[in-house]
Order: sequence, then C-alpha cells, then structure tokens
Amino acid sequence: MPKSFIVGLIISVLSFSADAQISQPSTDFRFPLDLKPSLSGAFGDLRPNHFHSGLDFRTNQREGYPVYAVADGFISRMRVQIGGFGQAIYLDHPNGNTSVYAHLSAFHPKIAKLVKDFQYRLESFEVDVPLIFSELPVKKGEIIGWSGNTGSSGGPHLHFEIRDTKTEEALNPQMFGLKVPDVSKPEIRGIYLYQLNGEPFSEDTPKQYFAVKGAAGTYSLATTPVINLSAESAFGIVAFDRHVPAGGTYGLYKIELSLDGENIYTATWNKFSFDANKAINSHLDYAALKKTGMSIQKSFVEPGNPLGLYQTQQSGIIKLEDNELHELVYKLSDLGGNTSTLRFKVKRNMSSYASEKSSARKNYTFNEDFRFNNADVKLLIPKGALYSPISFEYSLGAKLPGTYSQQHRIHRQNTPLHLPCTLSVKADANLKPELRDKAVLVDQRGVSQGGTFENGFVKSEIKNFGTFHIRMDTLPPKITPMNINDGKTMTGISRIVFKIADQLSGIATFTGKIDGKWILMEYDQKTATLWHRFDEKTPPGKHQLELSVADKKGNTSVYKANFNL
Ligand SMILES: [Zn+2]
Repeated sequence: MPKSFIVGLIISVLSFSADAQISQPSTDFRFPLDLKPSLSGAFGDLRPNHFHSGLDFRTNQREGYPVYAVADGFISRMRVQIGGFGQAIYLDHPNGNTSVYAHLSAFHPKIAKLVKDFQYRLESFEVDVPLIFSELPVKKGEIIGWSGNTGSSGGPHLHFEIRDTKTEEALNPQMFGLKVPDVSKPEIRGIYLYQLNGEPFSEDTPKQYFAVKGAAGTYSLATTPVINLSAESAFGIVAFDRHVPAGGTYGLYKIELSLDGENIYTATWNKFSFDANKAINSHLDYAALKKTGMSIQKSFVEPGNPLGLYQTQQSGIIKLEDNELHELVYKLSDLGGNTSTLRFKVKRNMSSYASEKSSARKNYTFNEDFRFNNADVKLLIPKGALYSPISFEYSLGAKLPGTYSQQHRIHRQNTPLHLPCTLSVKADANLKPELRDKAVLVDQRGVSQGGTFENGFVKSEIKNFGTFHIRMDTLPPKITPMNINDGKTMTGISRIVFKIADQLSGIATFTGKIDGKWILMEYDQKTATLWHRFDEKTPPGKHQLELSVADKKGNTSVYKANFNL
C-alpha cells in the first residue's frame, strides 16, 4: 500500500469522527454546581422582551458556591458587563457546544488574572475577551469560578446556558442529560378566542375569554358548551408548567393544538436564536401583557415572527367550511414526560360576528421600509421591524412645560417592534445653539431615548412606539462618596465605595485614578454602586484619588480626595 494512501485514510477517518462528534449532542455533561439541582428559571420561560435562554440554578440565596466545568473543553470567552450577564465564562466543548456560566461573583484566579490584565490594558471595567483554544484548557469538574449576583441578576443564582458554538443558538440544556426532576403536569388557566376575519392581528382584534376547569392534566371549558367561530378564528392559551405542586412556574416545552385530530399549531422549545428572541412579543399577545400583565400565548403565528419554535406550514388559523361540531384539543408537554390536555367543541356561526367585520380595508404597511415625514417628524420603520401589517397612526400633542418640542404620538405603544426605528423630531426655537448637544428624545414615561441634533431635528433610535418629545440634559451625574473623604486614613479598609446617579440621559463613563494612574472601578448598576478594591498597585503611604463620571450628554462630575493607606 503506498504511504500517501495510508496518510489519506487516517486523515479521512479523523475528519469523519470529528464530524460525527459534532452531530451528536453530548449527554455526559455534569451539573455546573454541587448542589441538588433546583431551578428558579427554566429554558423558554416568558420574560420581558425575551424567552429565558438557559437554566437558573438556585444557590440557597447565597453567593460563592464553586462553579464547575460541565465537560472537558477550553475557555473561549471571558466577559465583564455592567448589566446583562455580569461576570461570565464561555467554555467550548469538542462536541460543538458552548457552555455559559453567568452572574459569577468571582472567576478562578488564573482566569481572574487574565481578565484584570485586560481591564488595565484597555482601561475599562467592561471587557469581552475572546481566547484561542490553547490558552485555557479545562477538565470536566474543574472549578472555573464562584456563583454570584453580578449584572442584571435579581438575586444570587447561577445562569447556565448551552449554545451551538457555530450558530450561537441557545439550546435547551435539559436535552443534554441535565434533567431536573419535574413531577407536576402543565396547568391551564384559560383560553382566548381571536376573531381575525381577514384583518392582521392587532390590539383591536376582537377577543373573548373562556375559563377552563379541571386538574391533573385533564381540562375542559368551565361554562361554555360550544364556542362559536367566525369566518377566520384563532386561539391563545394562558398556561405554564410547575416542577412540584404549588411550586414556582416555568415555561412549557411544547404546545400543540389540533382540529379534529389534525395538528394545526406546534411550538417546541428546543432552541432559538438570540436575534429572534425579542419576538416573544409576537408569540404573546403583547397588548394584553402591557395592559393587564397577562401572558396569553397565541396559538397562531404572525407573518413577521422570526422565531424558529413553530412547525412550518402551520398558521394555527381556523376557517371552518361547514356548520357541524368540531373538536379542538390543546396538548401541553413539559420535559418530565408530563402532559395536559384541554378538549372543547367549536362550531361556525357567522351571524354572531357579522357586525365585527370592518367595513373599509385600511392602508397597511408591512415587510418593507416605511417612511413617514411631515414638517415636524421624520420616521423610518425598517423592513423586519413589524410582526404583522399595521395601519400607521400619527397624532400631535400639546407641548409640555420645560420641553423643546410638541409631543408626537408615533403609532401605538402596545404594538411591538422587533427592530428599532429611526425618529427625528423638530426642535423649537427655545433650543439655543449652545444647548443643542444636550438635547434628547424622551418617551411618554419620561425615559431618555438618547439623541443627536441634526439640521434642526433631534434624531434617535426608538425601541418602542409611543409618544415622544425633546428635553435637555444639562445636569452632571451625582457622585456620593460612601466611605472616603479628603485626608482619610483608609488602612484596613478593602474598598473605596461610591454611589453614582444621573437624572436623565444615564451614566456613560466612569474613570478612577490613583496618583494619576487608571484604576479598576467596578460598577453594579442595580445598586448604583461603584467601587475600587485596593491591591498591590497601591502601596502604603499618601495617595490622591480622582473619580470622574460623565453622562451620555457629556456632563461630567469630578470627585477628588487625598487619603492615607
Ligand atoms: Zn437566567
């Protein structure tokens, strides 16, 4: 056998086995904590503007539990964020998955040193450090950090994810052998009937609530023997899972709806992409959520919904062709093998809804760049921003005292947006040239949307529809020293602590210096706390601290103090 053939054979065998590994999900992941697995959040839980992308492991309301690598791999990314995941580690595994560990209180010392070096090199608290595979290999069960509450975390826990390394999609970790006991069947609270009748879904779509009765997985309508459907109808369901009776509530694994035994809608929470995740606002009845706090999971798919949760070719929309009785069945599943069903009868009854049909078709926009311009407003709704066609609405409101424009209502605040829109609002003559760079757009809640002055207009990206006007941010952030004052002896104190706040545009940057040299200041947004931990860089002796904090409109506050260590 020629030598080159053998080499070729070995290479092809190796590459074959590598491919085979990628296509098979590993089931030998260990749990990332040594605590009995208990979840405060599951994959697919309904959260504001997103489905939960991982598992939240409880940590006895405490920080500082060791966090272990779930499998062999290498650290591919280390990240520190003010909000979001706080301190997080990403581990790439040879099977093609990445595990993510977030809200950590501390990194393992060898990781912590690399991160701190990076922070000093970039002179930034927030860093995002990608690594190549040779730098930090880890073994399954090795400690990589300690659990915490950093970033946008509402209490001590470990947020854990498994992602597809290549596509970066979030995968359901419970598909990887990390099963958490679930002995409770999904619970159904009620259903909603939507009468679409040829119109796009909106908050104006007529809807009707039907209570359900039942327990232990078998449900029926509480009082209605038969639901009357119009020409084109659809349903939504209020339901959730529990792991133990009367325990916390979680998202479901699967929702199926069938008509006379044939599936018309299926949603399954196996994976989703982060780009599509905001479309939870299309999965849910967004207006109902905003107005009442109720999470109605629509069992029909809007045309602009990019989520990959749904079985394609199924719209969930029901058009009965006769006047016979038909049966609809909801089947809900969790990952513990528990299912619940709701059966009910429906019948076509055009007459009862004839009056609901709108007389004149509106002028709809969808799936294209849409521009609206008048003397005071310029708006771009980009292609891909809408889940359903809208008939765009605009109105002008009175000027509020102390503001620099009239109020402009840009469509409806209960219509969800997938992508930001560009909005420019004309400033009035009171906006003096020297104050132009202090102007921001503000929504109906008084929250700054940022903005830049351009040819007489203040322009910004808006994430939601609503009512907007122009205000000014001329006030610098407030710095409150918590444990330092000029001339203080800080011996025996481990940290210098401040509280910082800005009244409108928000904190943009903070820079701490000791004796003129940049120091790492750590920032916790949720408690508005900023601190520096003393280390070997500051030896005993006399020192000068300088802290400057700027807001997003360039207003800056500076605090200075001499101290002894
Ligand atoms: Zn989480």
